[in-house]
Amino acid sequence: MRDSSNDLSRRNFLSGVVVLPALAGLVLAQTATAEAKGTQAAFKYQGTPKNGQKCSLCKFFTKGSSATANGSCSLVAGTISPNGWCIAYAKK
Ligand code: SF4
Repeated sequence: MRDSSNDLSRRNFLSGVVVLPALAGLVLAQTATAEAKGTQAAFKYQGTPKNGQKCSLCKFFTKGSSATANGSCSLVAGTISPNGWCIAYAKK
């Protein structure tokens, strides 16, 4: 006679063996995607404002050591001027 509780435990274990690596792969893929930034050329980044829009007013900008220091952007790679601009500009 088979023990159905053992079958259920084995089934749960085996499904975990399959699901956990798949989830780990998904998390790694999302992390890699989140860390990938575009080039300044791809975003048509420029070091000057455009029509009153500038990086310091953009939600993707992280300021540097002071208000006038260069900072970084969560979308665009490299050093970003607070007075810069690109096509992904989004007001804070
Ligand atoms: S998305 Fe564009 S405008 Fe906004 S901070 Fe980054 S480079 Fe500047």
